[in-house]
Amino acid sequence: MDLSLTEEQKLIVEMVKRFVRDEVAPLEDSLDPDEDTLPPEQFDKLVAKTKEMGLYGLGIPPEYGGPEVDITTNTLIAIEYSQHRAGLYAPCYGAFGGAGLAQMFEATEEQKEKYLYPTLRGEMKTFFGLSEPSGGSDPARAIQTRAVRDGDEWVINGSKLWISGADQADYGLLFARTNPKEGRGGVTCFIVETHWPGFNVRRIVHTLRQARHATEIQMEDLRVPHTNILGVEGGGFAIANDRLTRQRIPYAAACLGPAFKAHEMAIEYSQIRETFGAALSSRQGIQWMLVENEIDLRTARWFVLDAAAKADRGDDFRTEAAICKLVASEAAGRVIDRSMQIHGGLGVAKDLPFERWYREIRIRRIGEGPSEVQKHIIARDILGAGLR
Ligand SMILES: Cc1cc2nc3c(=O)[nH]c(=O)nc-3n(C[C@H](O)[C@H](O)[C@H](O)COP(=O)(O)OP(=O)(O)OC[C@H]3O[C@@H](n4cnc5c(N)ncnc54)[C@H](O)[C@@H]3O)c2cc1C
Repeated sequence: MDLSLTEEQKLIVEMVKRFVRDEVAPLEDSLDPDEDTLPPEQFDKLVAKTKEMGLYGLGIPPEYGGPEVDITTNTLIAIEYSQHRAGLYAPCYGAFGGAGLAQMFEATEEQKEKYLYPTLRGEMKTFFGLSEPSGGSDPARAIQTRAVRDGDEWVINGSKLWISGADQADYGLLFARTNPKEGRGGVTCFIVETHWPGFNVRRIVHTLRQARHATEIQMEDLRVPHTNILGVEGGGFAIANDRLTRQRIPYAAACLGPAFKAHEMAIEYSQIRETFGAALSSRQGIQWMLVENEIDLRTARWFVLDAAAKADRGDDFRTEAAICKLVASEAAGRVIDRSMQIHGGLGVAKDLPFERWYREIRIRRIGEGPSEVQKHIIARDILGAGLR
């Protein structure tokens, strides 16, 4: 398949590359190794710049004020900006803005007025509440959070685990079982505000990642208006699936940003660092690590762009999304590990970003569906739907 870029895509990527190199990278140096939030005045300057470039609001459809960029371009931009964390790292919370929850574009007009538009203006933050202590890989079976109808309201009880950023969110999508007799068809998606009585963030779950916490949340007789159902009763699983599939491409792209940067640093370092009277890059053992990095990165980039191209054409890209998430997260782990090794002691020091990338990239083999679940999706495609 031809994955060559158009002139416009190349121009945008070059512009973003320059922006990241000149405006973002210098700010990163002033941050603590585990910090990814800039002081507001610096962050606002970056936002002003992305608006000037016409790229603010990535992932927001043009009719809602987003830029006219396709998924492929968006993916290429994500590969560039995820190399640095200064105000850019997380889509939606970063300097390029974003939709937060793309599924809200399917909301009713009343729901959009209350939640979507303020989110697009950067006034509200969101969470995505699917996984539970009983399991995240197979949510259709694992969801135990229960919603029971009471007149014009639903009463929700249960708990969710691993929910990113619920402690900072204003509202989010909460998936609960409305019909215990049904599997996938028994799950409904509710728009839930975090300040409502009965919604509690029980704890921050400390993980390898330091920024944007995972949380455990508890719902105790949380009353949600019937009008806050997103989509239709029983349609929650399709919404969750749609979100997970779409999210896999930018998630994979964000694995590649740090991996490309780590590889670039390893190439440079191997050429200047000498041991036993010669540059590291002259040793075949080191060359082979660099070659393996190169092949891992080219392969992963190909799969990510292939999935993006398929999504741009409007084709079914569920399998490609699973392949690219699997390949990119696994490849990035190997590339960062090898690049770290080439840097010796410096590789594990907080002076350089490797140790942070090493921790964050490890999470990416689990978040948004672990590698084994991606393989399960791909196997289902190869072997047919009979495999369940
Ligand atoms: C930092 C972080 C942030 C997260 N943020 C969110 C969030 O915002 N919202 C949200 O809803 N969830 C979130 N998650 C949850 C994440 O999606 C789940 O952790 C993930 O889906 C796996 O679920 P689990 O941890 O319950 O593992 P389990 O489902 O218990 O699986 C355990 C292990 O078994 C493997 N496995 C499962 N099924 C199979 C199989 N059929 N064959 C072979 N192996 C299998 C899995 O790959 C996994 O390695 C987050 C997780 C982390 C770590």
